[in-house]
Amino acid sequence: MKDAEILSLSVTDMVTLLSDKKLSSVEITKAYLDSIGRQQESINVYITVLYDEAIAQAEKADNARASGEATSRINGIPVAIKDNICTKGIRTTCASKMLSEFVPPYNATVVDKLIESGAVILGKTNMDEFGMGSTCQNSFFGETKNPLDVTKVPGGSSGGSAAAIASLQTPVALGSDTGGSVRLPASNCGVVGLKPTYSSVSRYGLIAFASSLDQIGVIGRNISDTAILLDEIRGYDSKDSTSSKREYRSLYSALSKKTDKKLRVGVPDECFSDYVSEDVKTAYCNAIKMLEKFGAEIIRINSIPYKQALAAYYILSSAEASSNLSRFDGVRYGYRAQNVKNTDELFIKSRSEGFGDEVKKRILLGTFVLSSGYYDDYYLRATAMKNRITSDFNCAFKNVDVIITPTSPRTALSLEHMLSCTEIYKTDMFTISPSLAGLPALSVPCGKGKDNMPIGLQIIGNYFCEETLLRAGLIIEEQNHE
Ligand code: GLN
Repeated sequence: MKDAEILSLSVTDMVTLLSDKKLSSVEITKAYLDSIGRQQESINVYITVLYDEAIAQAEKADNARASGEATSRINGIPVAIKDNICTKGIRTTCASKMLSEFVPPYNATVVDKLIESGAVILGKTNMDEFGMGSTCQNSFFGETKNPLDVTKVPGGSSGGSAAAIASLQTPVALGSDTGGSVRLPASNCGVVGLKPTYSSVSRYGLIAFASSLDQIGVIGRNISDTAILLDEIRGYDSKDSTSSKREYRSLYSALSKKTDKKLRVGVPDECFSDYVSEDVKTAYCNAIKMLEKFGAEIIRINSIPYKQALAAYYILSSAEASSNLSRFDGVRYGYRAQNVKNTDELFIKSRSEGFGDEVKKRILLGTFVLSSGYYDDYYLRATAMKNRITSDFNCAFKNVDVIITPTSPRTALSLEHMLSCTEIYKTDMFTISPSLAGLPALSVPCGKGKDNMPIGLQIIGNYFCEETLLRAGLIIEEQNHE
């Protein structure tokens, strides 16, 4: 099979060809590594590419299949991993100078699961430093470009993972999502991204940004590929104290069975606000029509307080970040500054030189909102807002199965955008509230903007209702391809 043909296969196709022995994992892996080699310089999606290790893993996967030991669906399938997820013996940088030399002595649980399943890890993908950003431009290793238009950003923070999929440099990838970092890049790059219910995927080995919100998520070319990857990584883990003990059935198998359950779809008023660009509104309205055509009942719901959610998110996530990132001081962990006179200077210089501007801004903000005198005014009020948003969602889910919004109010920004940081923060206005509530949310392509760039539809579901989300996503995906 020619490389171009291999690269065009979905994971489902590859699984069939691998089990029919019509294709080997080594052939697939080589095709992807060549594709990476051709594009790495122009798009910059990987921080580390595992050329030799990937081929060795692929050979192992082929042998396991030949001897009948391969039990998992994804045995031999290549995967890319965001560079804030620890990989034993492989540099894990969080796209920061602070961790540019960090080689973890252990694997994240999700990585262990993928290796056990026989997946082939192609490399570690670029991101906004420590997950802080919406453009993938806050990286010590240089910005990632959007493969659909290299003058645009891919979205962040998991921009490398989404761009890798859109440019055929991996079939599927892991990202992490604290306030939208899987969904926004998926939307900007025209691929599918799913942030699962908080607690359903282990966070052990995910380098923390804001622990109460962080969640590892999956990105793929289509809904089924995304479901296959999520099936492999979710489940209880005793190493993560927030991990749920729930048992899960395979999403991939569930999706292959039809259901005639009528879908009730909530449409919040806020999605029609002036801040949402006209082309995004048009694509959003088309998506509503697609769901209606499929028999869904559309129900207007009271708006979720998006602006307040945004403010609460930046207070809470920065507060947690300031605490989580305090360990990177050049002594306990991370980059150590040279030529210092005393320990105070060592801490100050290591942190000043090791962190980029956005990370420093968040640490300052977080330290401020936690300081005495301001704690009640900011941190406690933000916590109250988070609780209110959670109960608003709980109320809404009494009457609807899913809630839909645009993933972002606009298409991908230009690399040269001159937006202030607060304007950039608003690109996450729709993704943040489900994160605050810990709900699962999906971004699926639902059209194109005036600039011919993709637009994503966000589908939010109730806790542990990933199957419902993916089913709704399938309706959009199928009609989009017609
Ligand atoms: N863009 C948001 C931020 O900068 C969300 C990031 C994320 O989900 N990791 O905080």
